[in-house]
Amino acid sequence: MADCLFCNIVEGKIPARRVYEDERTVAFEDINPQAPTHVLIIPRKHIAGLKEAGEPDAELLGYCQLVAAKIARQRGIEQGYRTVYNVGPGAGQSVFHLHLHLIGGRDLRWPPG
Ligand code: AMP
Ligand code: ZN
Repeated sequence: MADCLFCNIVEGKIPARRVYEDERTVAFEDINPQAPTHVLIIPRKHIAGLKEAGEPDAELLGYCQLVAAKIARQRGIEQGYRTVYNVGPGAGQSVFHLHLHLIGGRDLRWPPG
C-alpha cells in the first residue's frame, strides 16, 4: 500500500535499521525503543493488524514468531523476552501494518500497562 509506513520500509523507500530479512518478513529496530532490544518483525505482505488477518495468514503469523525467536537467540536475550501484538487503538496500535514487537534485554514486569 502506497501510503503505509511499513510497506514503504519493506520497499526501501523509507530507511530503517534492518536486522533481518527474508522472502516473507523484514525486521528492524523500533525508532522509539522501550528496551535494549526492541525489534519489529513485519510480513512483507500488507495486513492491517491481527484482527484483519485470516486463516490463510496463519503460517505467516507463526513464522513471524519464529523470526522473533531467532533474533532473540542471536542477541542472547533468551533469559526473558516478550513478543507482542498491540491490536487496535485501545491497545496502543499506531501503525496499521501488522508488526510483532520483540522486547527484551531487561527485566519485564507483568501485567504490562
Ligand atoms: P504500535 O504502537 O504497536 O502500532 O507500534 C508501532 C511502533 O512502530 C512503535 O513502537 C513506534 O515506535 C514504531 N515506529 C514508528 N515509526 C517507525 C519507523 N519509521 N521506524 C521504526 N519504528 C517505527
Ligand atoms: Zn503496509
